[in-house]
Amino acid sequence: MKDSRILVLTGPGKGKTTSAFGMALRALGHGGKVAVVQFIKHDGSYGEVVALRQFPNAEVVCSGQGFTGRARDEESRERHASAARDGWRVARQRLEDNSMGTVILDEIFYPLNYGFIPVAEVVGALKRIAAGKVVVLTGRDAPEEIVAVADTVSRIECVKHAFQQGTKAQSNVEF
Ligand code: ATP
Ligand code: MG
Repeated sequence: MKDSRILVLTGPGKGKTTSAFGMALRALGHGGKVAVVQFIKHDGSYGEVVALRQFPNAEVVCSGQGFTGRARDEESRERHASAARDGWRVARQRLEDNSMGTVILDEIFYPLNYGFIPVAEVVGALKRIAAGKVVVLTGRDAPEEIVAVADTVSRIECVKHAFQQGTKAQSNVEF
């Protein structure tokens, strides 16, 4: 029986989400089942989401309320928190489902750092995953409790990014 594996992709540079989707592709190529739960993002128009949904063994759930409206007022904060909790309910179920070989929790560090999802709950669920399961968590600023429980942690640095020269987000590169 293979070991379970928890991977963290963090840091300020570009390439965390796309690397996690690369892992999804790798697992699908071996006939595995993949679940992606995206926090923050609420829109299925990202190219990688549209592409992955074409595989019968892949599921992508977008549970976020978007990057905008930075949880300023109480109402918007509650909306983001409630969306994050909905995403976490789905994620927890997929983590417990032994038929799901790979589970990707994309941008989960934002709701953890905002306190929308208790870090201890996620750590507990990660410690209980079955042998052979692969879990990938992405986002800037991985909480240290998650880093501690992970087997592999990569931190992507930002040497430079086109946005800093005023370039706008574009399809095939950013979405
Ligand atoms: P990608 O989805 O391309 O793999 P990412 O997951 O590493 O990027 P996020 O932190 O989730 O990046 O940021 C989301 C968006 O912000 C991406 O479209 C990305 O191109 C852009 N971005 C990533 N890093 C930077 C940066 N250092 N400066 C400005 N924009 C960035
Ligand atoms: Mg990302």
